[in-house]
Amino acid sequence: MTPLAYAAVAALANVAGAAAVTSRRAWSTRSLELLIALAAGFMLSVSLADITPTAILRGGERAALVVLAGFLLVHLTQHAFVGHFHFGEETHPVARRVQLSALTGLLLHTFVDGVAIASAFLVNDRLGVLVFGAIFLHKLPEGLAISSLTLAAGGSRGAALGAAALLGGATIAGLLLTTAVAPLAQAGLALSGGVTLYVGASNLIPEFQGKSGWSHNLAFFGGCALYLAARLVLRG
Ligand SMILES: [Zn+2]
Ligand SMILES: [Zn+2]
Repeated sequence: MTPLAYAAVAALANVAGAAAVTSRRAWSTRSLELLIALAAGFMLSVSLADITPTAILRGGERAALVVLAGFLLVHLTQHAFVGHFHFGEETHPVARRVQLSALTGLLLHTFVDGVAIASAFLVNDRLGVLVFGAIFLHKLPEGLAISSLTLAAGGSRGAALGAAALLGGATIAGLLLTTAVAPLAQAGLALSGGVTLYVGASNLIPEFQGKSGWSHNLAFFGGCALYLAARLVLRG
């Protein structure tokens, strides 16, 4: 599979997440929560154990500053400039302005999802597949979040699906741009280290942090274990 095919699969998962919301078929909130916990563990692990160290090995100390910039950029565009955004399903009404600002922030984040896949595959296939795993696992909750937010802001089902399709499109655009302008890949890898860390640790973990019971925690550590297993298998 080419990196573009991986990005297309990730983009489709955005739309699938939205379709789960707009089709109003009975989907389980509980399995969404467990998926979020699993994705959190996987993303955190890939960022700390693979993307960030590889970026620093290739780009030197300066890359560490780019990792930090990536982390801060997500907070700025998804939270500081946005009235209300979280990864769980939106269950209360929100203002149209909130939906628009959340969509804008998420477009930037999903663009970096594509940059991450492309720059990881430029290092090697092993890193590419691991980073794809981290992106893929949170694409469904991502599509679900933006589509439920769109519906909560009074948007139509078509608008909800369209918003998720835009996110998928941004991921493909990020991949294409990074592949076309290869010098972007070095900074892109460092940037995606910070973005992946933020999404895993600061977007996804808070979704289940306050919940009682062990299932979320098991799914979270399970995500880390899944990463370690994938790492072993891919090392061959
Ligand atoms: Zn909310
Ligand atoms: Zn994403």
